[in-house]
Amino acid sequence: MSEKDEILADLAAYGRLLQSLTPVGVPWPPPASVVDVIGAAARDAMPPAAGSLATAAPGADPKREPAALLLATAPTAANADPAAALAAVRDTIGDCRRCKLSGGRKTIVFGQGHAGAELMFVGEAPGADEDEQGLAFVGRAGQLLTDIIEKGLRMKRADVFIANVIKCRPPQNRNPEPDEILSCQPFLEAQIRAIRPKVLVGLGKFGAQWLLKTAEPITRMRGRIGSYEGIAVMPTYHPAYLLRNPAAKKDVWEDMKQVLSLLGRPVPQ
Ligand code: URA
Repeated sequence: MSEKDEILADLAAYGRLLQSLTPVGVPWPPPASVVDVIGAAARDAMPPAAGSLATAAPGADPKREPAALLLATAPTAANADPAAALAAVRDTIGDCRRCKLSGGRKTIVFGQGHAGAELMFVGEAPGADEDEQGLAFVGRAGQLLTDIIEKGLRMKRADVFIANVIKCRPPQNRNPEPDEILSCQPFLEAQIRAIRPKVLVGLGKFGAQWLLKTAEPITRMRGRIGSYEGIAVMPTYHPAYLLRNPAAKKDVWEDMKQVLSLLGRPVPQ
């Protein structure tokens, strides 16, 4: 890791540490003077070397790279302009070449839905259909997710936001690898901070483990409400798993009833 990368990684870790200390009285976001110092240091440290968490794309604007983005979308109260914040995240991603998946993808699947959504789903990675169309969850698993949203939760799919842990399709739909998850992490973090939903649903092992920062198996964590930056998280089974194991749909329905309750919506019995 280059010196610049180390500085950026330290800054990101320091920010997370400060944030985790809010329950014991450390203010988050830090006072403006501190943000200015950190922001200037992050800008000076850019662009870092290739292959790292915060690698700048060729020609990228350093002010728009992940560290600056995370500071700009610190987890405070509701974002004044979620759509603009999301657009800034997309802009920062650019024609991303930060990880090895960029070579095999057709499209960057940013995620889609309502910028001011109360509910956000986080899946694993785009598959072939998603890579083709540039949209998250549009294949068979996506159809089932639509049913969960529209028939189960009685919400419109366009009113929620749907994204994935990584934004590019892994070859042969293999599992995302740790370096790929790390490369994409700042962007999903920034998306969540832009949207500030009331509830996050982690779909399957990857979505749920990413949100809850745990290696616990999905079979054990599903149905138990957790928290991501103060936002309620419901881990549940991935729709692709439900296609193979329809008997598990009843568990997902129980989880969705908890989601409705978290959203303050009527819960069908
Ligand atoms: N599976 C996922 O996890 N995400 C998609 O977008 C599609 C299928």
